[in-house]
Amino acid sequence: MTFDVALQHPRPFAPAAAAFPPGALKSASLRNQPGKAIAAIALPLENSFASLPPDFYTRLMPTPLPAPYLVGISAPAARLIGLDPAQVDDDTVAVLAGSRVPERAQPVAAVYSGHQFGVWAGQLGDGRAMLLGDVATAEGPMELQWKGAGMTPYSRMGDGRAVLRSSIREFLCSEAMHALGIPTTRALSVAGSDQGVVRETIETAAVVIRMAPTFIRFGSFEHWFHRNNEGNLRILADYVIDRFYPALRDEDNPYAALLEEVTRRTARMIAHWQSVGFMHGVMNTDNMSILGQTLDYGPFGFMEAFNAQHICNHSDHQGRYSYAMQPQIGHWNCYALAQALVPLIGEVEETQAALDVYQGEFATTVDRLLHAKLGLNQLPEQADADRALLDSLFGILQANHADFTLFFRRLSGLQAGSNAGDEPLRDLFIDRPAFDAWAQQYRTRLLLEGSVDAERKAAMNAVNPKYVLRNYLAQGAIDKAQQKDFSEVARLLQVLQSPFDEQPENEQYAALPPDWAAELEVSCSS
Ligand code: AMP
Ligand code: MG
Repeated sequence: MTFDVALQHPRPFAPAAAAFPPGALKSASLRNQPGKAIAAIALPLENSFASLPPDFYTRLMPTPLPAPYLVGISAPAARLIGLDPAQVDDDTVAVLAGSRVPERAQPVAAVYSGHQFGVWAGQLGDGRAMLLGDVATAEGPMELQWKGAGMTPYSRMGDGRAVLRSSIREFLCSEAMHALGIPTTRALSVAGSDQGVVRETIETAAVVIRMAPTFIRFGSFEHWFHRNNEGNLRILADYVIDRFYPALRDEDNPYAALLEEVTRRTARMIAHWQSVGFMHGVMNTDNMSILGQTLDYGPFGFMEAFNAQHICNHSDHQGRYSYAMQPQIGHWNCYALAQALVPLIGEVEETQAALDVYQGEFATTVDRLLHAKLGLNQLPEQADADRALLDSLFGILQANHADFTLFFRRLSGLQAGSNAGDEPLRDLFIDRPAFDAWAQQYRTRLLLEGSVDAERKAAMNAVNPKYVLRNYLAQGAIDKAQQKDFSEVARLLQVLQSPFDEQPENEQYAALPPDWAAELEVSCSS
């Protein structure tokens, strides 16, 4: 198939040496800065995570940002938690910025560890994120988290802040991915402040409110495994199973069932990423959600001129997290989780079996998604021929660096019986005869299943987005926001909330990137 998912790092399940001496966590002191409790935003907060023993987090307060202002708010996310997006007053903005603490909040920063770029990194933790608590919603309890609200005991060398640039990117992409139907954490808001933050240059600080049922990561489990603390490992696994995977409680081995389900979800999530050309950029195990949701948006990108080897993160010199590598890395990350769960699962064979579902789940999902992208039914007798058709498609996309999003969107306009509608597609290729040859094979395949143009077009347009968060679009919104004009953040969010719709008034947001976009670089610095 198009993506190679062979497990490249088959290691024995040998217990790793504890990277930190047991007890090191205790040095993380309880910080309690004054934060004014207010009732301005009446959130009926609970904090289920804080019911875990204190080893798992530190209670603390956010560091207020001076004179915060609202940069953006997602209306659907706000409504989900019972907040009226039209009623955001100064007190609410202060809460969104972490400058004030809502009455019932019990802010905590969680501890976790992880593998970064394939190397064990030891303890990390919420260096700038703080959980306020969880709110009951129509989709179940949602945790709210400030990101960028100040230092925590896990900030290491960092300042606990996030810059406006990366906050707008995370905000827009979280909501864009949600609208694409891809499992992801959500984003409620971005609040900014004129407070300076030092990165390569001086930028200004911002705080995003993220939402997810939980922010527990693979690294949360690795943390206790690498400290040889089986008791806390079990407490964490039981909490996750009971709260998020209750059906697994009845399985013979709930921990093996948990690993298998998380592995499946991760494989499916990454198949979805591949299908829209999303590249995460920093697939470290501390950025992998235990719910299989896209988590921690940093130097992500959407594929434009197709290149399977594309690396969206300027800091990723080896290309570990390139587009083509994502499926394998997802597997490797599940491997790291598997290793951490061995003490609970009990048997290496059972652990291996749970992990081994990855390749099949990924291949099945990606095959289904790619068929849908091409508007084809999955016909068993055509499986091999379809694989060849897809391989040759990715071959010409690669050779011609055709724009990924535009290609699939325009493909819906192709007619099965004639090449009369091919021009917009041909325009994306330098080697037009190569495109014509592929289109001929594709037409033959469409005719084979009696595909009806209009029906196929509607179905394809419902899965091939017209609008994705291209870097240059995000940059345009950031540039204006840095001049205190937040209109483009709002407009872009609105466009991305209906990515499959034709929006004639927003045609320019579906255009090829301008030449200057080639100079844009996104790195881990945020
Ligand atoms: P990331 O690559 O953004 O997922 O971050 C990796 C780790 O670094 C996490 O533990 C973050 O909380 C932490 N971190 C990143 N940026 C900062 C910052 N400015 N201040 C404190 N911690 C940070
Ligand atoms: Mg992270």
